Amino acid sequence: MSTIPEKIQQVRLQIDQACRACGRPDNSVQLLAVSKTFGVDAIAEAAEAGQRAFGENYIQEAVEKIRYFAEQDAWKDQGLVWHCIGPIQSNKTRLVAEHFDWVHTVDRLKTAERLSAQRPAQLAPLQICIQVNVDGGSTKSGVAPDEVAALVQQVAQLPQLQLRGVMSIPDVVADFAAQLAVHQRVKAVFDEIAALGLPQLAQWDTISLGMTADLQAAVQAGSTMVRVGSGIFGQRDYGSAH
Ligand SMILES: *Cc1c(COP(=O)(O)O)cnc(C)c1O
Repeated sequence: MSTIPEKIQQVRLQIDQACRACGRPDNSVQLLAVSKTFGVDAIAEAAEAGQRAFGENYIQEAVEKIRYFAEQDAWKDQGLVWHCIGPIQSNKTRLVAEHFDWVHTVDRLKTAERLSAQRPAQLAPLQICIQVNVDGGSTKSGVAPDEVAALVQQVAQLPQLQLRGVMSIPDVVADFAAQLAVHQRVKAVFDEIAALGLPQLAQWDTISLGMTADLQAAVQAGSTMVRVGSGIFGQRDYGSAH
């Protein structure tokens, strides 16, 4: 079995190959290591291999890990970056605002308002992606593509947030062309917002899109950040973590 550093290397290689297949530079796609349900030892192994960006879904569990690394002399100045990629209930916004660096899952103004109000003034603005639902029904998280511009214009007014881009979790479909078509809709939303030319969009540079199964299509469509969990850390055991 491969170790965590070996698996990170393999995923990076997959990203590089996907980039080359469509003529993008290798370093144009960041790897977000999704560490939900895995402990601090696994995260430290990944960090020792050079991984810096980590994605977490469950707020309480994540905050314990973030605090752990913030308190370790060996890690506190190593520039680990924590991304919230799970749904956020209203009663969890304060924990998110106080501990994370990024939030990928903003799909309502109310959540954004609370995150901005609760972001401590001494911290950098929270980096925000708007979650877009390009393929699903009304039960799925994310804003409909035609509602993103209105939400962006409102979020842009919030002082403690910095808009960075869009995030999406399309259903995985087997057919590559179909995958690509869905991913390209996410890219189209990203481009449409960029074209608004708002001054608050100076750092609008992120498309958080693609997981292990659809990485290649996501990169071809323009993803700048792929989120990989089990491909790095192994299968998750939800039973023991919760
Ligand atoms: C869990 C998760 C991932 C990673 O999924 P894997 O199948 O483990 O690679 C990526 N994105 C989101 C939003 C997730 O919740």
